[in-house]
Amino acid sequence: ASATRDRLRIAIQKSGRLAEPARALLSACGLSWRESRDKLFCYGESLPVDLLLVRDDDIPGLIADGVCDFGVVGRNELDEQAGERARIGLPPAYRELRALGFGACRLMLAIPESWDWQGPAQLQGLRIATSYPAILANWLQAQGVDASVVELSGSVEIAPKLGTADLICDLVSSGATLAANQLKPVETLLQSEAVLAGPVREFDDSRAGLAAMLLRRMDGVLKVKDSKLLMFRAHRDTVAELSRLLPDADPFTQLAANGDGPLSLQTMCHGAVTWQLLEELERAGAQGLMVLSVERSLA
Ligand code: ATP
Ligand code: MG
Repeated sequence: ASATRDRLRIAIQKSGRLAEPARALLSACGLSWRESRDKLFCYGESLPVDLLLVRDDDIPGLIADGVCDFGVVGRNELDEQAGERARIGLPPAYRELRALGFGACRLMLAIPESWDWQGPAQLQGLRIATSYPAILANWLQAQGVDASVVELSGSVEIAPKLGTADLICDLVSSGATLAANQLKPVETLLQSEAVLAGPVREFDDSRAGLAAMLLRRMDGVLKVKDSKLLMFRAHRDTVAELSRLLPDADPFTQLAANGDGPLSLQTMCHGAVTWQLLEELERAGAQGLMVLSVERSLA
């Protein structure tokens, strides 16, 4: 449904949990913007890629309507609105292109602390409060359970206390909100995180090239997000032990051969490189250890 355009438009959350990490990710992809006075639109300067700053609820619809080409949004929001579209017979209008590694949370069923959880069959005939009625209804159907879904737009966790529902289905990250309301999580319906969402169909104008470049850069940032480059010197006979201490690292690369002296080595580590690990490596024979952060890669 989207008209031909020569600029890409990405919807991100204006303020909230995903706002700052979404901008940081796009900046790391080489994008920069000039902000408009109303702070709702950011004009792309380094590349023809603009931002629209909106409520996260609006992002799937903006992509569906072709107003925006991409969006950064929680998988929970995307799946909920996709479920709602399917329920009223509309075709899929967006898809998840990349998982972005921030905004992690789970959509969970939570019951009063005093209950014993015996499994989904226990939900038969009960009232469940949620802001995710489509995901919940699909899950209940898959479980073969008939329960009533009470849709609330916020403060779902107080519904059992108010008597408007028996239990809830809500997003959980630390679990502190549930505990504060004497609820306990018992089932996970969805493992969520922020995702890059895009249209179902490929672009057929100059946005195609821009989109491909953006995705490639994003992959280059995401791939090394938790990686460090480790450089050190070591004698040949210690290499096997050093590599045993680094199970999360790539095979070592030898940088230079210098006679009988120590080898100069480097490796990419895909896990945490703690002080303790460095000290163990040093005891095992590594010298001149250096840890470098990695910004991006083009592999
Ligand atoms: P908006 O004003 O944009 O509608 P919001 O209040 O709906 O904001 P936030 O609370 O900022 O949204 O949450 C945005 C997303 O962050 C959620 O949809 C979810 O994907 C993710 N998230 C991560 N942890 C949590 C959590 N503990 N509770 C709620 N959302 C979380
Ligand atoms: Mg919202």
